[in-house]
Amino acid sequence: MAYKTRLLQALDKQHLWHPFTQMRDWMADDNLIIERAEGNYLYDTDGRKYLDGVSSLWCNVHGHRKKQIDAAIKQQLDKMAHSTMLGLTHPPAIKLAEQLIKIAPPGLTRVFYSDNGSTAMEIALKMAFQYWQQTSDRRQATRKKTKFLTFVNAYHGDTIGSVSLGGIDLFHATYKPLLFETISAPAPYCYRCPDARNCELQCLAEMERLIEKHRNELAAVVIEPLMQGAAGMISQPRGFIRRIRQLCTTHNILMIVDEVATGFGRTGRMFAVEHENVVPDIMAVAKGITGGYLPLAATLTTEKVFNGFLGEYKDKKTFFHGHTYTGNPLACAAALASLKIFRDEKVLEKLQPKIAIMQSILKSFYKLNNIGDIRQTGFMAGIELVKNRWTRESYPYEARMGHKVILDARRPRHHGRDSAAAPHGVILRPLGDVIVLMPPLSITIRELIELLHSAYHAIESVGNHR
Ligand SMILES: *Cc1c(COP(=O)(O)O)cnc(C)c1O
Repeated sequence: MAYKTRLLQALDKQHLWHPFTQMRDWMADDNLIIERAEGNYLYDTDGRKYLDGVSSLWCNVHGHRKKQIDAAIKQQLDKMAHSTMLGLTHPPAIKLAEQLIKIAPPGLTRVFYSDNGSTAMEIALKMAFQYWQQTSDRRQATRKKTKFLTFVNAYHGDTIGSVSLGGIDLFHATYKPLLFETISAPAPYCYRCPDARNCELQCLAEMERLIEKHRNELAAVVIEPLMQGAAGMISQPRGFIRRIRQLCTTHNILMIVDEVATGFGRTGRMFAVEHENVVPDIMAVAKGITGGYLPLAATLTTEKVFNGFLGEYKDKKTFFHGHTYTGNPLACAAALASLKIFRDEKVLEKLQPKIAIMQSILKSFYKLNNIGDIRQTGFMAGIELVKNRWTRESYPYEARMGHKVILDARRPRHHGRDSAAAPHGVILRPLGDVIVLMPPLSITIRELIELLHSAYHAIESVGNHR
């Protein structure tokens, strides 16, 4: 290992505190330092090469150093790096809003910018709450609409509002005294469903019951459409979000969708809700919006919600919310370039065969005994490792099986005689014992096969040596 790497590792351990990381373990390990990236690969400070198997935390869409995005940011940099959206506006934010509305489900007409997924959701929940508070009806019945229906194992970010909407005990339970209460509905998790054998969508029935019971106090239903990401890639049966849309419409409740993970092509369509022709009232997007270049997020809503905030200055119906770097011009320029690539390079069209290949290769993974369930929606997949396939018993939390697999995947591997590529490793990030595969949409078919090959052998080798 190069001297430079050693020095940087030491400094990192001395000064840094990493997110979602037990720092005692981190400080005992040799940690990878990524210093450059190109296409779908990352390179560490010792020049080793890795496939970016999770799109640099689910963000990178078109690969790294994508010429058009690099150029767009440089061009914007020559004009202005930052201004403000509070009291002023600027061309990249305006043009991007127009583009977002064009690709968003019909009916979403307004864009409120922020800079990460948690704040996009924070904005969504404040918008929904305030909307009912100032929607005029004679009996003021909408004032009672102050609650949110959320799902078990949901993840909407790490700020206190978005944590309140969340339902992952490991992350959220500690903060309970700080959180507002929500009405929590069971989410489908078919692999661990007690009634899976005679599924009549019991999860849906319970949700329906809760919505009907609380219809007068519900401001909104909040959901990650098609797949709960951070929960471990838990997919919903077909028709689930469609049914939520119907119930929300019937009972005059807003539907908030969190497309932070699923947006921008991840599920095979631009947005996950398109699979079921659902138009939400509020939609949060972030991760993939800039192609994985810069922090940017947006909360989209309808003219109906927007109009609820119009009034005389003295009425104080203003949405009093905004972040300093909201709608940053460099980030908006990157997002505009990313959307142009979607159009010019027919990204979604070219993605379809890759989704099919991933699906067919993942089927063969069931040969491995330590795999319980494989869930895939478009180009997001989770492989759930289990100690015992027959009883579905999980590994103990402290065994860190997911972590062991991703460490093994980093080892350089040859990919058969046909592969022109030099041996290289793969970067993955697990969710507990679920191995996540979220490659950049730009991954080539050969690279995709290499990624799956590496994941397979890493799971196999850890299963054999536990
Ligand atoms: C990542 C994620 C968030 C939080 O986004 P940040 O940019 O990390 O704040 C919210 N919701 C979903 C579904 C996510 O996957």
